[in-house]
Amino acid sequence: MRFRLIYNHKNLSKPILAEAILKTKVLINILEAKVTPTAGEIMVDVPVEGEKLREVIRFFEDAGVTVKEVAQILEIDMGRCMGCGACVSPCPTQALKLTKDWEIEFDEKKCVRCMICVDACPVKAIKFT
Ligand code: SF4
Ligand code: SF4
Repeated sequence: MRFRLIYNHKNLSKPILAEAILKTKVLINILEAKVTPTAGEIMVDVPVEGEKLREVIRFFEDAGVTVKEVAQILEIDMGRCMGCGACVSPCPTQALKLTKDWEIEFDEKKCVRCMICVDACPVKAIKFT
């Protein structure tokens, strides 16, 4: 399951993610990180479920980090898509590409759920469910 970890200026410099891995023994995978001097946001994949997942979330929340679940599935409505490519260049991870036949291709493994493509599409063909 993917989450956005939102740090503030108080906890930004603390090694909370490393401590979470050591304490919970869950191999949390960093997918994307944006850090400024005063705040930070890290997108992570937490490969566990149930009580173990709750333990990981609790650990971050107790450390003052806001945890937000990230939508899981990106869907492209091919009936609506007109192959304009407006979603391709704003995608920060090249998860979207246009084929020679002007069809959009999506690589789920590269997607970091930033939702930029949702806003970029002029006909609202992309959504997360
Ligand atoms: S949400 Fe869209 S723009 Fe963001 S990484 Fe995934 S495909 Fe690319
Ligand atoms: S921006 Fe929308 S219409 Fe254009 S290629 Fe992407 S999904 Fe299709």
